[in-house]
Amino acid sequence: MKVAVFSTKVYDRHFLSAANSLPQHELVFFEPRLNRDTAILAAGFPTVCVFVHDQVDAPTLELLASWGTRLVVLRCAGFNNVDLQAAADSGITVMRVPAYSPYGVAEHAVGLILSLNRKIHRAYNRVREGNFSLDGLLGFNLHERTVGIVGTGKIGLILGQIMKGFGCNLLAYDVYHNPELEALGGKYVELPELFANSDIISLHCPLIPETHHLINAEAIKQIKSGVMLINTSRGALIDTQAVIEGLKSGKIGYLGVDVYEQESELFFEDLSGEIIQDDIFQRLTTFPNVLITGHQAFFTVEALYNIAETTFANIADLEQGRPCVNEIRAQPSV
Ligand code: NAD
Repeated sequence: MKVAVFSTKVYDRHFLSAANSLPQHELVFFEPRLNRDTAILAAGFPTVCVFVHDQVDAPTLELLASWGTRLVVLRCAGFNNVDLQAAADSGITVMRVPAYSPYGVAEHAVGLILSLNRKIHRAYNRVREGNFSLDGLLGFNLHERTVGIVGTGKIGLILGQIMKGFGCNLLAYDVYHNPELEALGGKYVELPELFANSDIISLHCPLIPETHHLINAEAIKQIKSGVMLINTSRGALIDTQAVIEGLKSGKIGYLGVDVYEQESELFFEDLSGEIIQDDIFQRLTTFPNVLITGHQAFFTVEALYNIAETTFANIADLEQGRPCVNEIRAQPSV
């Protein structure tokens, strides 16, 4: 199978090439992102492999289909960048990697929580400059604090398990209740109750119309003053402008994000020599109580290995006409 791999970085090339065992596929690595302008690169490729910032929209899918593409394999779990209905209309099958590093993402969320709480990001710089003052570094015990988890699937559950280990109380909100979270002692409540009672709120639900700007000005009114807000899921779960207002007023005491609504303009690239034009993002970076990482929560050796292995298993399922559990389809409209 000829596979056009878009948004390729050195690490993608390394892990995909290593996993490309028999039957060997012809992998062609392209650095640009897939969109309607770059789709021509995939002409004649039955399979196209993409990541989170590739624009797999209707015009792109129509072009791919016209040039012979029949399969789009995502190297990620979230598929908010894919127009599934357009894929179905174009006769293109879409498959994803549903779980490649739930531990990695949950552990990264814990890393953000610990760093923000104990100001490790600030202490790192201070100590390197010979400043050993503790002023401004005061933290709080996690023990007996309440963590509100929004979305208790694979990642949210693992976060719950880890935070339980710290002695935290768990509140949860999800459209489905996860008995494993309840077995940990987690209590499902409606969002207003979770907002009002959580010291730390961590978002682990997908980005869908129902969750777009879940954290907005209205939600911020309901949260506990000084809350720590963590988002390792998708940027558009939070209305960044509203969160900036919450940070300025002190209602939000800490913000840790691995994702950002406009991240496709920024993340995964070295822009250190450029003038960043996104004023909202730049404002975020000025707060001492904000910690931003550039969509690296998934980025572990185990995850890249799993992504590569699952991607080839997905391609094999299509080639051999087997049903694939990782196929994603547009939900029928009701
Ligand atoms: P999952 O499908 O196992 O869990 C998602 C949970 O969200 C499910 O329990 C689902 O019922 C729930 N949910 C659906 N609609 C909801 C709603 N309206 N309100 C509240 N909950 C709702 O997914 P996961 O593997 O735990 O991943 C969670 C998210 O993490 C993904 O959607 C993805 O966007 C993000 N992610 C980020 C990274 C990263 O590197 N930062 C890596 C992988 C995944």
